[in-house]
Amino acid sequence: METAPIRLLAVNEMSRHYGGVIALSDVTMAVHPGQIFSLIGPNGAGKTTLFNCVTGLDSPTFGSVDFLGESITGLRPDQVTNLGIGRTFQNIRLFTELTVLDNVKIGRHPRTSSSFIGSVFRTKIQQREEADIAARAHDMLAFVGLDALSDQSAGNLSYGDQRRVEIARALATEPRLLLLDEPAAGMNPQETQELIELIYTIRERNVTILLIEHDVKLVMQISDWVTVLDHGEKISEGLPADVQNDEKVIEAYLGKSDDA
Ligand code: ATP
Repeated sequence: METAPIRLLAVNEMSRHYGGVIALSDVTMAVHPGQIFSLIGPNGAGKTTLFNCVTGLDSPTFGSVDFLGESITGLRPDQVTNLGIGRTFQNIRLFTELTVLDNVKIGRHPRTSSSFIGSVFRTKIQQREEADIAARAHDMLAFVGLDALSDQSAGNLSYGDQRRVEIARALATEPRLLLLDEPAAGMNPQETQELIELIYTIRERNVTILLIEHDVKLVMQISDWVTVLDHGEKISEGLPADVQNDEKVIEAYLGKSDDA
């Protein structure tokens, strides 16, 4: 008997209404382990809303989310992180005055028992934990190619490097699934190529990737599966080449000149 493929993440009939605005409408999709899965669509299609509903920053009005077969609907962001879902944001969210290293250490915090910020009385356990956090943060920075800049203020880094710091911070939480919200935004062609290499390397470490991206060339190059949203609805899904030739997708993009 054939068994259904394992679903790492399942979004089930998810809708999100904001008053009269329907940001998501009855969206169902499944991400399988090891995939590079892209979520695309014109501006305002509902992509970030879906990320927010998966990661606990927002809650669906209807529908549910399962991770590894268990419901995570309505959990807090830190609970979702601890279960193994990491993310980066469309608008970079770094503490620009803090060092690159400290920004990545903050990502590690949900995995530890003691408070990283503001622990005044440091027990031996806390000291060991903090040493582990720093070591893991250095590892992640080396992984994204930025350990040499670990003592710099994050705000001094180029836009592309700041995006890499965000990825390092998300990886520090030891995710099984990494959500990247427009990671190539503002990157030059060389930085974009380096990002593609980095995404492949992350996947080799058994981290599944769910990507929102407007760079269609990048999406078509690296995705195993593409789902397309428009006006909150799923209008297409499939292999990159099939989605690219789907009339509904072409129509959705041509109707919005800034994305076409
Ligand atoms: P983009 O590619 O421009 O980032 P997107 O596909 O990520 O767009 P969302 O940001 O999810 O789209 O927005 C989907 C719709 O929901 C938009 O019409 C947006 O204005 C609306 N929306 C999102 N968040 C809220 C909110 N908190 N309150 C009201 N409307 C919202």
